[in-house]
Amino acid sequence: SIPISYFGGIGRASKEGVLIKGGNYLDVLYQADVFVFDKTGTLTQGEFKVIKTVPAPGFSEAEVLAAAAAGEHYSNHPIGKAITAHAQIIVDETRLKNYAEIPGKGTRVEVDNQVILAGNKSLLIDHQIELAENDEAGTIVYIAINKQLAGYLVLGDKVKDNTFATLQQLKKLGVKKIVMLSGDNAQVANQIGQQLQLDEVMGDCLPQDKVTAFERIKADNPEGKTIFVGDGMNDAPVLAMADAGIAMGALGSDAAIEAADIILMKDDPMDIVKSVDVAKYTRRIMI
Ligand code: ADP
Ligand code: MG
Repeated sequence: SIPISYFGGIGRASKEGVLIKGGNYLDVLYQADVFVFDKTGTLTQGEFKVIKTVPAPGFSEAEVLAAAAAGEHYSNHPIGKAITAHAQIIVDETRLKNYAEIPGKGTRVEVDNQVILAGNKSLLIDHQIELAENDEAGTIVYIAINKQLAGYLVLGDKVKDNTFATLQQLKKLGVKKIVMLSGDNAQVANQIGQQLQLDEVMGDCLPQDKVTAFERIKADNPEGKTIFVGDGMNDAPVLAMADAGIAMGALGSDAAIEAADIILMKDDPMDIVKSVDVAKYTRRIMI
Protein backbone atom coordinates (compact mmCIF):
# COMPACT_ATOMS: atom_id res chain seq x y z
CA SER A 1 0.00 0.00 0.00
CA ILE A 2 1.06 3.58 -0.63
CA PRO A 3 1.53 5.69 2.50
CA ILE A 4 -1.09 8.43 2.61
CA SER A 5 1.53 11.17 3.02
CA TYR A 6 2.83 10.42 -0.48
CA PHE A 7 -0.50 11.62 -1.86
CA GLY A 8 -0.08 14.71 0.29
CA GLY A 9 3.36 15.31 -1.19
CA ILE A 10 2.26 14.73 -4.78
CA GLY A 11 -0.79 16.95 -4.35
CA ARG A 12 1.27 19.68 -2.77
CA ALA A 13 3.76 19.51 -5.62
CA SER A 14 1.01 19.63 -8.27
CA LYS A 15 -0.21 22.93 -6.80
CA GLU A 16 3.27 24.29 -7.55
CA GLY A 17 3.07 23.05 -11.18
CA VAL A 18 5.21 19.98 -10.50
CA LEU A 19 3.70 16.66 -11.66
CA ILE A 20 5.17 13.56 -9.99
CA LYS A 21 4.34 10.16 -11.49
CA GLY A 22 4.54 8.21 -8.22
CA GLY A 23 5.46 8.37 -4.54
CA ASN A 24 8.69 6.44 -5.09
CA TYR A 25 10.08 9.47 -6.95
CA LEU A 26 9.65 11.54 -3.79
CA ASP A 27 11.95 9.02 -2.07
CA VAL A 28 14.43 9.35 -4.92
CA LEU A 29 14.36 13.16 -4.69
CA TYR A 30 14.83 12.96 -0.96
CA GLN A 31 18.04 11.00 -1.50
CA ALA A 32 19.21 12.79 -4.67
CA ASP A 33 22.93 13.49 -4.46
CA VAL A 34 24.04 13.80 -8.08
CA PHE A 35 22.26 16.08 -10.57
CA VAL A 36 22.97 15.92 -14.29
CA PHE A 37 21.61 18.70 -16.48
CA ASP A 38 21.13 19.24 -20.19
CA LYS A 39 22.20 22.71 -21.31
CA THR A 40 20.04 24.16 -24.03
CA GLY A 41 16.53 24.98 -22.82
CA THR A 42 17.30 23.58 -19.36
CA LEU A 43 20.10 25.63 -17.77
CA THR A 44 19.92 28.20 -20.56
CA GLN A 45 16.88 29.95 -21.95
CA GLY A 46 17.12 28.06 -25.22
CA GLU A 47 16.30 31.32 -26.95
CA PHE A 48 19.19 31.75 -29.28
CA LYS A 49 19.94 34.98 -31.12
CA VAL A 50 22.02 35.16 -34.27
CA ILE A 51 25.02 37.36 -33.43
CA LYS A 52 26.62 37.36 -36.86
CA THR A 53 26.74 35.71 -40.26
CA VAL A 54 30.13 35.02 -41.84
CA PRO A 55 30.22 34.02 -45.52
CA ALA A 56 33.04 31.83 -46.88
CA PRO A 57 35.15 33.22 -49.76
CA GLY A 58 33.02 33.31 -52.92
CA PHE A 59 29.69 33.55 -51.06
CA SER A 60 27.63 36.54 -49.97
CA GLU A 61 25.93 37.00 -46.62
CA ALA A 62 22.57 36.94 -48.44
CA GLU A 63 23.36 33.53 -49.96
CA VAL A 64 24.34 32.10 -46.58
CA LEU A 65 21.16 33.43 -44.96
CA ALA A 66 18.93 32.13 -47.77
CA ALA A 67 20.47 28.65 -47.50
CA ALA A 68 20.23 28.75 -43.69
CA ALA A 69 16.56 29.79 -43.83
CA ALA A 70 15.77 26.91 -46.20
CA GLY A 71 17.77 24.43 -44.10
CA GLU A 72 16.02 25.39 -40.87
CA HIS A 73 12.55 26.02 -42.33
CA TYR A 74 11.03 22.85 -40.83
CA SER A 75 13.18 22.66 -37.67
CA ASN A 76 11.63 22.89 -34.19
CA HIS A 77 15.02 23.08 -32.49
CA PRO A 78 15.65 26.41 -30.67
CA ILE A 79 18.65 26.96 -32.97
CA GLY A 80 16.58 26.42 -36.09
CA LYS A 81 13.84 28.74 -34.86
CA ALA A 82 16.34 31.49 -34.07
CA ILE A 83 17.86 31.30 -37.54
CA THR A 84 14.44 31.38 -39.23
CA ALA A 85 13.41 34.39 -37.14
CA HIS A 86 16.66 36.22 -37.88
CA ALA A 87 16.73 35.56 -41.64
CA GLN A 88 13.17 36.88 -42.21
CA ILE A 89 13.05 35.12 -45.58
CA ILE A 90 9.85 33.71 -47.04
CA VAL A 91 10.72 30.16 -48.06
CA ASP A 92 8.88 28.56 -51.00
CA GLU A 93 7.97 25.16 -49.57
CA THR A 94 7.23 23.70 -53.00
CA ARG A 95 10.98 23.89 -53.71
CA LEU A 96 12.02 22.00 -50.52
CA LYS A 97 12.44 18.20 -50.64
CA ASN A 98 13.62 15.38 -48.37
CA TYR A 99 14.06 17.41 -45.18
CA ALA A 100 15.82 15.51 -42.41
CA GLU A 101 16.76 16.53 -38.87
CA ILE A 102 19.95 14.83 -37.70
CA PRO A 103 19.77 14.65 -33.86
CA GLY A 104 22.60 16.47 -32.12
CA LYS A 105 23.99 17.65 -35.46
CA GLY A 106 21.62 19.74 -37.57
CA THR A 107 19.51 19.50 -40.71
CA ARG A 108 19.67 18.50 -44.36
CA VAL A 109 17.28 19.57 -47.11
CA GLU A 110 17.20 19.78 -50.89
CA VAL A 111 16.24 23.02 -52.65
CA ASP A 112 15.76 22.53 -56.38
CA ASN A 113 19.00 20.74 -57.30
CA GLN A 114 21.01 21.91 -54.30
CA VAL A 115 21.71 19.97 -51.10
CA ILE A 116 21.84 22.23 -48.05
CA LEU A 117 23.33 21.28 -44.71
CA ALA A 118 22.94 23.43 -41.58
CA GLY A 119 24.62 22.18 -38.44
CA ASN A 120 27.72 21.65 -36.37
CA LYS A 121 31.24 20.51 -37.19
CA SER A 122 30.29 16.87 -36.74
CA LEU A 123 27.55 17.15 -39.42
CA LEU A 124 29.98 18.64 -41.93
CA ILE A 125 32.67 16.07 -41.15
CA ASP A 126 30.09 13.31 -41.81
CA HIS A 127 29.71 14.78 -45.30
CA GLN A 128 33.47 15.11 -45.88
CA ILE A 129 33.32 18.89 -45.95
CA GLU A 130 36.56 20.61 -44.99
CA LEU A 131 36.48 23.15 -42.17
CA ALA A 132 39.03 25.64 -40.91
CA GLU A 133 39.54 25.80 -37.13
CA ASN A 134 36.99 28.14 -35.62
CA ASP A 135 37.44 29.92 -32.32
CA GLU A 136 34.30 32.08 -32.34
CA ALA A 137 32.77 32.39 -28.87
CA GLY A 138 29.28 31.02 -29.39
CA THR A 139 27.23 28.26 -30.91
CA ILE A 140 28.28 27.92 -34.53
CA VAL A 141 26.01 26.67 -37.30
CA TYR A 142 27.87 25.88 -40.51
CA ILE A 143 26.05 26.15 -43.81
CA ALA A 144 27.07 23.99 -46.77
CA ILE A 145 25.66 24.12 -50.29
CA ASN A 146 26.37 21.09 -52.51
CA LYS A 147 29.22 19.83 -50.31
CA GLN A 148 30.90 23.23 -50.21
CA LEU A 149 31.18 25.36 -47.09
CA ALA A 150 29.17 28.55 -47.76
CA GLY A 151 29.75 30.15 -44.35
CA TYR A 152 28.59 30.03 -40.77
CA LEU A 153 26.33 31.77 -38.26
CA VAL A 154 27.29 32.49 -34.67
CA LEU A 155 24.48 32.25 -32.10
CA GLY A 156 24.31 33.16 -28.43
CA ASP A 157 22.05 31.87 -25.69
CA LYS A 158 21.75 33.09 -22.09
CA VAL A 159 21.66 31.28 -18.76
CA LYS A 160 18.18 31.49 -17.17
CA ASP A 161 17.81 34.09 -14.41
CA ASN A 162 17.27 31.48 -11.70
CA THR A 163 19.78 28.86 -12.79
CA PHE A 164 22.73 29.85 -10.59
CA ALA A 165 20.57 30.34 -7.49
CA THR A 166 18.91 26.97 -8.11
CA LEU A 167 22.24 25.14 -8.28
CA GLN A 168 23.42 26.84 -5.09
CA GLN A 169 20.23 25.84 -3.28
CA LEU A 170 20.64 22.24 -4.44
CA LYS A 171 24.15 22.23 -2.98
CA LYS A 172 22.77 23.59 0.29
CA LEU A 173 20.22 20.76 0.30
CA GLY A 174 23.10 18.27 0.20
CA VAL A 175 23.64 17.59 -3.50
CA LYS A 176 27.27 16.47 -3.88
CA LYS A 177 27.83 16.81 -7.59
CA ILE A 178 26.34 18.81 -10.48
CA VAL A 179 27.17 17.88 -14.07
CA MET A 180 26.16 19.32 -17.45
CA LEU A 181 25.99 17.31 -20.68
CA SER A 182 25.63 19.36 -23.85
CA GLY A 183 25.45 18.78 -27.56
CA ASP A 184 26.84 22.27 -28.03
CA ASN A 185 30.55 22.79 -28.67
CA ALA A 186 33.02 22.23 -25.82
CA GLN A 187 34.04 25.90 -25.73
CA VAL A 188 30.49 27.11 -25.06
CA ALA A 189 29.85 24.24 -22.64
CA ASN A 190 33.02 24.98 -20.64
CA GLN A 191 32.30 28.70 -20.48
CA ILE A 192 28.86 28.03 -19.00
CA GLY A 193 30.36 25.41 -16.71
CA GLN A 194 32.71 28.03 -15.26
CA GLN A 195 30.02 30.67 -14.99
CA LEU A 196 27.78 28.25 -13.05
CA GLN A 197 30.62 26.61 -11.06
CA LEU A 198 29.66 23.13 -12.22
CA ASP A 199 31.61 20.10 -11.00
CA GLU A 200 31.83 18.47 -14.43
CA VAL A 201 31.01 19.48 -18.00
CA MET A 202 30.89 17.51 -21.24
CA GLY A 203 30.38 19.29 -24.58
CA ASP A 204 30.09 17.96 -28.15
CA CYS A 205 27.76 15.19 -26.92
CA LEU A 206 25.67 13.35 -29.46
CA PRO A 207 22.41 11.93 -28.06
CA GLN A 208 24.17 8.55 -27.69
CA ASP A 209 27.14 10.18 -25.88
CA LYS A 210 24.70 11.61 -23.33
CA VAL A 211 23.45 8.08 -22.64
CA THR A 212 26.99 6.70 -22.23
CA ALA A 213 28.10 9.60 -20.02
CA PHE A 214 25.02 9.28 -17.86
CA GLU A 215 25.57 5.52 -17.42
CA ARG A 216 29.10 6.25 -16.20
CA ILE A 217 27.98 8.96 -13.77
CA LYS A 218 25.27 6.69 -12.40
CA ALA A 219 27.72 3.80 -12.02
CA ASP A 220 30.04 6.15 -10.05
CA ASN A 221 27.21 6.76 -7.58
CA PRO A 222 26.03 3.22 -6.78
CA GLU A 223 24.75 4.00 -3.27
CA GLY A 224 23.11 7.29 -4.19
CA LYS A 225 20.45 8.60 -6.52
CA THR A 226 21.30 10.24 -9.82
CA ILE A 227 18.81 12.69 -11.30
CA PHE A 228 18.66 13.95 -14.87
CA VAL A 229 17.01 17.23 -15.86
CA GLY A 230 16.36 17.93 -19.54
CA ASP A 231 13.88 19.34 -22.03
CA GLY A 232 13.33 16.16 -24.06
CA MET A 233 15.09 17.57 -27.16
CA ASN A 234 17.65 14.86 -27.93
CA ASP A 235 17.71 13.67 -24.31
CA ALA A 236 14.53 11.61 -23.80
CA PRO A 237 16.52 8.32 -23.46
CA VAL A 238 18.51 9.83 -20.56
CA LEU A 239 15.33 11.12 -18.90
CA ALA A 240 14.08 7.52 -18.95
CA MET A 241 17.34 6.04 -17.54
CA ALA A 242 17.74 8.30 -14.52
CA ASP A 243 16.67 7.30 -10.99
CA ALA A 244 14.37 10.28 -11.49
CA GLY A 245 14.10 12.09 -14.83
CA ILE A 246 12.85 15.67 -14.57
CA ALA A 247 11.45 17.33 -17.71
CA MET A 248 11.36 21.12 -17.86
CA GLY A 249 9.57 23.29 -20.36
CA ALA A 250 8.27 19.97 -21.63
CA LEU A 251 4.72 20.93 -22.44
CA GLY A 252 5.54 21.03 -26.13
CA SER A 253 7.11 17.59 -26.19
CA ASP A 254 5.21 14.31 -25.82
CA ALA A 255 8.51 12.41 -25.80
CA ALA A 256 9.66 14.31 -22.71
CA ILE A 257 6.37 13.88 -20.84
CA GLU A 258 6.39 10.16 -21.63
CA ALA A 259 10.04 9.58 -20.65
CA ALA A 260 10.14 11.75 -17.52
CA ASP A 261 9.14 10.80 -13.96
CA ILE A 262 8.65 14.38 -12.83
CA ILE A 263 7.34 17.16 -15.06
CA LEU A 264 7.80 20.86 -14.37
CA MET A 265 4.90 22.70 -15.97
CA LYS A 266 6.72 26.02 -15.79
CA ASP A 267 10.15 26.74 -17.16
CA ASP A 268 11.66 27.81 -13.83
CA PRO A 269 14.68 25.82 -12.54
CA MET A 270 13.77 26.84 -8.97
CA ASP A 271 10.87 24.36 -9.21
CA ILE A 272 13.51 21.63 -8.90
CA VAL A 273 14.38 22.98 -5.46
CA LYS A 274 10.68 23.15 -4.61
CA SER A 275 10.33 19.47 -5.58
CA VAL A 276 13.23 18.45 -3.35
CA ASP A 277 11.71 20.55 -0.55
CA VAL A 278 8.37 18.78 -0.94
CA ALA A 279 10.18 15.41 -0.84
CA LYS A 280 11.94 16.34 2.41
CA TYR A 281 8.73 17.72 3.93
CA THR A 282 6.80 14.56 2.99
CA ARG A 283 9.52 12.44 4.52
CA ARG A 284 9.30 14.39 7.76
CA ILE A 285 5.56 13.71 8.02
CA MET A 286 6.09 10.00 7.43
CA ILE A 287 8.75 9.51 10.08
P1 ADP B 1 21.99 20.56 -25.88
O1 ADP B 1 22.58 19.25 -25.47
O2 ADP B 1 22.88 21.71 -25.54
O3 ADP B 1 20.59 20.74 -25.35
P2 ADP B 1 21.16 19.59 -28.54
O4 ADP B 1 21.50 18.16 -28.29
O5 ADP B 1 19.72 19.95 -28.66
O6 ADP B 1 21.92 20.57 -27.50
O7 ADP B 1 21.89 20.04 -29.88
C1 ADP B 1 23.27 19.78 -29.99
C2 ADP B 1 23.92 20.53 -31.13
O8 ADP B 1 23.44 20.02 -32.38
C3 ADP B 1 23.63 22.00 -31.16
O9 ADP B 1 24.49 22.74 -30.32
C4 ADP B 1 23.91 22.30 -32.64
O10 ADP B 1 25.31 22.41 -32.84
C5 ADP B 1 23.41 21.06 -33.34
N1 ADP B 1 22.03 21.19 -33.82
C6 ADP B 1 20.94 20.54 -33.36
N2 ADP B 1 19.84 20.90 -34.05
C7 ADP B 1 20.24 21.82 -34.96
C8 ADP B 1 19.57 22.59 -35.98
N3 ADP B 1 18.25 22.50 -36.22
N4 ADP B 1 20.33 23.43 -36.73
C9 ADP B 1 21.65 23.55 -36.52
N5 ADP B 1 22.33 22.87 -35.58
C10 ADP B 1 21.65 22.02 -34.82
MG1 MG C 1 18.51 20.38 -25.13
